[in-house]
Amino acid sequence: MLKTVFLALVPFLVFAEQTLSIIKPDAVRENHVGAIIDRFEKNGLRIAAIKKVQLSKEKAGDFYAVHKGRPFYEDLTKFMSSGPVVVMVLDGPDAIQKNRKIMGATNFEKAEPGTIRKDFAKSMTENAVHGSDSPESAAQEITFFFEPNQIF
Ligand code: ATP
Ligand code: MG
Repeated sequence: MLKTVFLALVPFLVFAEQTLSIIKPDAVRENHVGAIIDRFEKNGLRIAAIKKVQLSKEKAGDFYAVHKGRPFYEDLTKFMSSGPVVVMVLDGPDAIQKNRKIMGATNFEKAEPGTIRKDFAKSMTENAVHGSDSPESAAQEITFFFEPNQIF
């Protein structure tokens, strides 16, 4: 019996992954929060944690520190602190890559039809969503926003 239960759980133990998602200020302002979350859930990602927060310019700068020095950094941090964002931990098999696929390319003009960025982004900077791009950045970004006891 115990062995059967354990074997049934193996696929989840092996493949379950968590990633950080942010619905950016443009999409929050335009009331697309529900439509965006619906796409995650319909694609098998579960909301393990969620909150709405307003980032200061400094905190937005810390979050995107990897891009410090790039020409778009100033615009990016200004934009990310221009209004509240919805921050989530998404959980599911292959969550990091699956989320990136649902989001679409950074440049919305090159994003696949049916992706969030194709449908909701307006520019290279104002592109509706953020998603972690590797297991290392996912772990670091989740810790940036959530305590372990806030993730279910
Ligand atoms: P994100 O990290 O927000 O999920 P991404 O991983 O697709 O996006 P990154 O290269 O990490 O893309 O860039 C972070 C963000 O900086 C982009 O989502 C976009 O808002 C902005 N950005 C990136 N490149 C440019 C650019 N060339 N011009 C303007 N803004 C840019
Ligand atoms: Mg990125």
